Amino acid sequence: MRVAAVLLLAASPALAQAPPPGDPEGIPQHDLNRPQPAIVTPVAGVPPAVPGRPPSDAVVLFDGKDLAGWKSQKDGSPAAWKVENGYMEVVKGTGAIETRQSFADVQLHIEWMAPTPPTGESQGRGNSGVFFAGSRYEVQVLDSYENKTYPDGQAGAVYGQFPPLVNASRPPGEWQAYDLVYEAPRFDAAGAVTKRARVTVFHNGVLVQHARELIGPTTNKVRTPYSAHPEALPISLQDHGNPMRFRNVWLREL
Ligand code: MG
Repeated sequence: MRVAAVLLLAASPALAQAPPPGDPEGIPQHDLNRPQPAIVTPVAGVPPAVPGRPPSDAVVLFDGKDLAGWKSQKDGSPAAWKVENGYMEVVKGTGAIETRQSFADVQLHIEWMAPTPPTGESQGRGNSGVFFAGSRYEVQVLDSYENKTYPDGQAGAVYGQFPPLVNASRPPGEWQAYDLVYEAPRFDAAGAVTKRARVTVFHNGVLVQHARELIGPTTNKVRTPYSAHPEALPISLQDHGNPMRFRNVWLREL
């Protein structure tokens, strides 16, 4: 398929618009015509109705009580999101929040819920995101239940790069779980990337990203090359204007 596409490009000046450098699939970013990932009914009971207890070696980032482990990403002030009934909720306009601690390679568990009834559509419905290395690498959080958007921007996507393997979304108003493995990129002394960032994602118990190597930071409408940064940086959650809820957030450092 890829070889055929390359041959076609070489043979046809009309199609000579090369894919962006570093795009492993040769597909334009945010392409609405890209095939929609198949819908899969997720694993029953994942996540459980009552959050499970984290493993004994976990760093608990949010246990439902307070946001002591988090701060505003823009100015470092205390995180201004709402905490009630065992979850945190985005307060529109207060901005992204990030962990006070920095982390390199981790296993991360996080549960999230989109508002019901749903409002808006596509990227405007139930949008947030889990970001690694500050605001660099986003695994999209989106209400992708009966909500068409560009596949590289739906729930479980590596935003703007890789759609999820399947759509394992639950309806809005139900808790959903991400279990992620993030490996930070590595850079040499000159700042060149020697190992790309890599993510694995289970959505409601279903594998949706398998050791994906990111082609760079996950940016909107542009593909941005890597630039060197420390291995350990905060993890952040996005304020995209929707009252998304999160609970039971923990990680294990690898
Ligand atoms: Mg997002």
